[in-house]
Amino acid sequence: MGKGERRTIVLEILDNKGSIDIDELDEHIMLMAAVRTHFDLEWTESVAAFDARSGHRILGFTSTLAYLKKRGRMSGGHAKTWIAMARAARKFRATFLSWKHNQISTDQAQLLFQASDQMPAKYPDAEPVLLEIVGDSYDETRKVLDYWRATADKPGVLIDEQTQMERRRLEVSRKANGTVEGEFSLTQTAGESFMTAIDALMPPPTENDDRTPSQRRADALEDLSRGFLESTETPEIGGEKPHLNIHVDVDALEASPGGLHETESGAVLTVSTIRQLACDSSVSRIVWNTEPEIIDVGRKTRIIPAATRRALIARDRHCIMSGCGRSPRWCDAHHIKHWADGGTTDLDNLCLLCRYHHTLVHQDETVTLELLEHLDLVGQGRPI
Ligand SMILES: [Zn+2]
Ligand SMILES: [Zn+2]
Repeated sequence: MGKGERRTIVLEILDNKGSIDIDELDEHIMLMAAVRTHFDLEWTESVAAFDARSGHRILGFTSTLAYLKKRGRMSGGHAKTWIAMARAARKFRATFLSWKHNQISTDQAQLLFQASDQMPAKYPDAEPVLLEIVGDSYDETRKVLDYWRATADKPGVLIDEQTQMERRRLEVSRKANGTVEGEFSLTQTAGESFMTAIDALMPPPTENDDRTPSQRRADALEDLSRGFLESTETPEIGGEKPHLNIHVDVDALEASPGGLHETESGAVLTVSTIRQLACDSSVSRIVWNTEPEIIDVGRKTRIIPAATRRALIARDRHCIMSGCGRSPRWCDAHHIKHWADGGTTDLDNLCLLCRYHHTLVHQDETVTLELLEHLDLVGQGRPI
């Protein structure tokens, strides 16, 4: 097809595009696609011949790429793609001929040539089979090639898994300020389990939730850890279920200055954290460390009796902060007036709060006030 002919087809379409019927338009679009494929082929073969004969040298260019960028006014990326196509087309003739005979499109040919470039040793053997099963659409072709790459390069995949295993790690360190920081890398399978668990513990954010996704993941990890410690299936270590032991003086618990407040491992906790953990000590066993006697408050029982907790769950049903609604499984029972300050452990003085809101209530006075307003307890002299 000559240049003049091509222009005529385009002009006819442009002149009639308003009145032409869709079937005819479709026919023209497909015709133009065939014309374009024809030119892509011609162009690829010409570039391949030019490249093979190092034509760029004769014309004073440093490479075929430099030649196409300058003479063809092409972008580097576009030029590189076509040079790769041209070189593969010379090497893998069956793929080229399939393209030439319109059995595959230019885009499909490009996918196949990319695959040949990625696995030059395996492609020649696979080429006839791949051309047969390559599929009718671009997406199908891509899928076929993805499967082929994953299976043809089996040793490569295994090495990759080995590398994943070698690289797996979980660095954790306790900082001087009491926070814990770390970095980790998991294998694909371990990562999947981890992400599934974290996702399951991360309900979609509610309207009032201004935590970042990263903060919500951190909260989910805390839920995961605490859930494990509370679970009855938790393996026993040294005859006891693992739990967080806290050594705390009464002074500290009553929020008076001084007094000991640290974990068994010696990490000093803030008073508000201590009061929060002690508030519903279902995890934490409080070792009340006053001279001359040591009172083990938590022992093997919870501060809140199981029956009271059941009644509380039946009444509140979920975290009571407005717009939250996290289920009781992820909630603490909060003493509205702390038991260390003489608050009672009965329904009137308890409410369900998810860990996130429980932390906020103990640390942020505006949230404390919000809770009291919600409970209609403002001004009744019932401090948290
Ligand atoms: Zn509390
Ligand atoms: Zn909540």
